Amino acid sequence: MIKILLLAVGVWLIITLLKNYGRSVDQDEKAAPPAETGEDMVRCAQCGVHLPRSEAILSGGEFFCCDEHRRQHHPD
Ligand SMILES: [Zn+2]
Repeated sequence: MIKILLLAVGVWLIITLLKNYGRSVDQDEKAAPPAETGEDMVRCAQCGVHLPRSEAILSGGEFFCCDEHRRQHHPD
């Protein structure tokens, strides 16, 4: 009976070790740096579209994708 218990514990240990090993491999792959342009993305305050900061129009502390949306958001 003790032999069966030892065998069961041994099998459980092997399975646990294998699972932990597989998980750590997964984490290593996910830890790889994502491919990014490095440019900040901003959100149009009018329509919500995301665009690079360099292409956005800044007005009143908010970003817009085009002059049309800037005028719609700040009618004057
Ligand atoms: Zn917009």
